[in-house]
Amino acid sequence: MTITAESVWVKCLSFIQDNVTSQAYKTWFEPIKAIKLTDNALSIQVPSKFFYEWLEEHYVNLLKVSLTKELGEKAKLVYIIKMENGTTSKQPYTEKIPSSHRGNISEQEVETPIKHKSPELKNPFIIPGIRNVKIDSQLNPNYSFENFLEGDSNRLARNAGIAVSNKPGGTSFNPLLIFGGVGLGKTHLAHAIGVEVKEKFPEKTVLYISAEKFTQQYIESVKKNNRNDFIHFYQIIDVLIVDDIQLLSGKAGTQDVFFHIFNHLHQNGKQVILTSDKAPVDMQDIEQRLLSRFKWGLSAELQQPDFETRISIIKNKLYRDGVDMPEDIIEYLANNVKTNIRELEGAIISLIAHSSFNKKDITIDLAKKIVENYVKNTKKEISIDYIQKVVSDYFQMDVETLQSKTRKRHIVQARQLAMFFAKKLTKASLASIGSQIGKRDHATVLHACKTVNNLSSTDKQFKKFVEDLNKKLTN
Ligand code: ADP
Ligand code: MG
Repeated sequence: MTITAESVWVKCLSFIQDNVTSQAYKTWFEPIKAIKLTDNALSIQVPSKFFYEWLEEHYVNLLKVSLTKELGEKAKLVYIIKMENGTTSKQPYTEKIPSSHRGNISEQEVETPIKHKSPELKNPFIIPGIRNVKIDSQLNPNYSFENFLEGDSNRLARNAGIAVSNKPGGTSFNPLLIFGGVGLGKTHLAHAIGVEVKEKFPEKTVLYISAEKFTQQYIESVKKNNRNDFIHFYQIIDVLIVDDIQLLSGKAGTQDVFFHIFNHLHQNGKQVILTSDKAPVDMQDIEQRLLSRFKWGLSAELQQPDFETRISIIKNKLYRDGVDMPEDIIEYLANNVKTNIRELEGAIISLIAHSSFNKKDITIDLAKKIVENYVKNTKKEISIDYIQKVVSDYFQMDVETLQSKTRKRHIVQARQLAMFFAKKLTKASLASIGSQIGKRDHATVLHACKTVNNLSSTDKQFKKFVEDLNKKLTN
């Protein structure tokens, strides 16, 4: 019986098949074609350079053993990489690379220098290098757990994230879906998990990618006719983080490919982390089979941070930037930028920048101006400014009059009412209220609150003011 490349390879395959999972066999060995056998060298054709690197990294020993069994100690393996972009020529380019592994199989001289340009790397995240496949995680080290302050609004998500990073793929939080509104920390938390995994398990392959970029890569791979490389690339990741998956909505092709990648990773105990600006039930135009998988693990919501958490986030940021800021301004910011942590940070940065460029102290007036620029929808929330406006309107005066130093009785009363409601309806401190309502001190505010309480139990007319204003402010 004559020995052919094919017959040798068939025997190697049956040995390999017994030694790897059926999934790995399907992914990495079925696509290989035996091309040529000369002396003791078997040439096999692989679909891509990436494929070759992967085999070398993970299966070189297995290949070596199987081949040695068939061809003896002098066995050699030659990879032929099938080139996929044949724009100038219809016939597939090939490139020969001797196995880089030291040992019998690979100690072969380098073949004739490669004439064609080396094949394009199929995925931009692969750092070129033949011996090791290294994937740049695309993680931002500043987005760590340490910098992600805990509060009621994020406790579940944050702790689930920590659990996942201690045991990627090994908890029931797979996938972990983090959802919540804009600027509430989804991207930060997703990175933090990746950063922590890398720290604890440096050998694990972690990849952060936005759904948008994932979609672009996919479209590109279809254009270049290397969809399989695209899929293979993602199937080797240990911890895959896909940010903003709501962006996959309506993109059937991308959803389909993601579905296959997801299944492969999940079946192989790999961790998937997803973020979305909506809960799974509210996602539109995402295939049902994909949605149902999103629900397999844990969906954890990031909510709007409460006052205390906002204060700690501000203080932490100031501390890291080495900036001092008066307490009443910190409170002002926390009280007025509530729904978006990114805006909160933006306001702080802008405030610091203004004050340092203009060599001015950080004042409450500056803070107000900046907050106005940063926060679009404060109207519905009760701010001290809003209270002053409502009270002034009610007494048909303008805010400046309300804040003025005059001792005219009706103006003093209006000012005291504004202070009273500020204390009642916001979390600002007495000092902060005072500095915002006509630059008074905390004792004045305290006195105002007492006066309003007293008057409303003794003076019917005054009591009506309080009731009317309360209605206007809380409706
Ligand atoms: P999202 O992806 O939900 O839109 P990001 O993750 O981009 O939000 O967060 C916006 C900003 O807020 C980032 O700069 C992030 O560092 C910061 N941030 C969010 N949550 C926290 C937190 N709990 N502690 C500290 N900073 C936070
Ligand atoms: Mg984000």
